[in-house]
Amino acid sequence: MTVPFVDLKEQYLKIKPEIDQAIFSVLEDTAFINGKYVNEFCENFAQLYDVKHVLPVGNGTDAIYASLKMLGIGPGDEVITTACTWISTSETISQTGAMPVFVDINDKFLIDPAKIEAQITSKTKAIIPVHLYGQLCDMKQIKEICAKHKLFLLEDCAQAHFAANEGYVAGLSGDVGTFSFYPGKNLGAYGDAGCIITNDDVLAKKVKMFTNHGALVKHDHKIEGINSRMDGIQGAILNVKLKYIKEWTANRIENASIYRELLNNTPEVTLPKLNEGNSNHHVYHLFVIECEERENLISHLKNCNIQTSIHYPTPLPFMEAYNYKKQTQEDFPVSFEKHSRILSLPMFPELKKEQIEYVCTEIKNFYSK
Ligand SMILES: *Cc1c(COP(=O)(O)O)cnc(C)c1O
Repeated sequence: MTVPFVDLKEQYLKIKPEIDQAIFSVLEDTAFINGKYVNEFCENFAQLYDVKHVLPVGNGTDAIYASLKMLGIGPGDEVITTACTWISTSETISQTGAMPVFVDINDKFLIDPAKIEAQITSKTKAIIPVHLYGQLCDMKQIKEICAKHKLFLLEDCAQAHFAANEGYVAGLSGDVGTFSFYPGKNLGAYGDAGCIITNDDVLAKKVKMFTNHGALVKHDHKIEGINSRMDGIQGAILNVKLKYIKEWTANRIENASIYRELLNNTPEVTLPKLNEGNSNHHVYHLFVIECEERENLISHLKNCNIQTSIHYPTPLPFMEAYNYKKQTQEDFPVSFEKHSRILSLPMFPELKKEQIEYVCTEIKNFYSK
């Protein structure tokens, strides 16, 4: 048996006629950039998400950058985010001219709210929580901190489409939520795409202008902006895939529960910890365990034709790009402790029960050797 880490082909084959038709329609209508199909997708996404504005952009990184710029973040400002995320979250902060400030994670791999306030200074303007792996950060506490210190709240929802907890829905708790539709994300295009969601009319208008060269009306450039738009083909594909997102998420959750059941009694493996309460809706973009002897386990699984991955091998403060901050493992004890133990197991909606059983059997075989 072979178990890939993700399989985008199988999903495509299941919806091929609809996808192919959608792509042809874009060609027929020459609606190549933004336009009819992108608008249709944004309207449907807005409805499903119950949000006022959905603004299409070229990718999830631009979504963060454009939002920060239009919130007025710039040189001299500081923006707080988690030590454990994809670099898009912090590099966009730097691109505005502001300084990224990293905070350690908790046992759920999410920004630790208890460690945020120690990092707030008179320069702090915003917090970017990242709902990493598909589970919501503690939004109650983070919202309170933002309100107390009058900070903007931008949620990076690239891994958390429709994730929720205790009445908080990913992207709707603060000023703005940003999404990536990179092919491997829970809702993925067949190329780059992203969007920004907000209920703030003024911010929506600014973002729309900024991502279109600073113009709301052609040739009327109010400011200098950027070029970040969604391709019509991606909009049409996303519109087809949006119909299945709830079903695919349910499949991910089911797959996670099979993993949990089968790995429950393996002492060398720590299963992903969940937010407390009954309303937690973890959407399992990734299923990340902590494990002993990681490198040997990876080789064993590889020999059994099981693909795994690591998200992410190095916490951001320890990356060369942030050497200038001169931060050490003592500054981020939890991130440091976890980064050598984390392992992402195969996770996608089409993963079969037999494949999960095979993965778990081989993990157990490895430890009982
Ligand atoms: C994927 C991802 C992004 C960036 O999305 P792109 O569409 O690849 O630019 C940002 N933040 C996180 C946490 C991500 O996982």
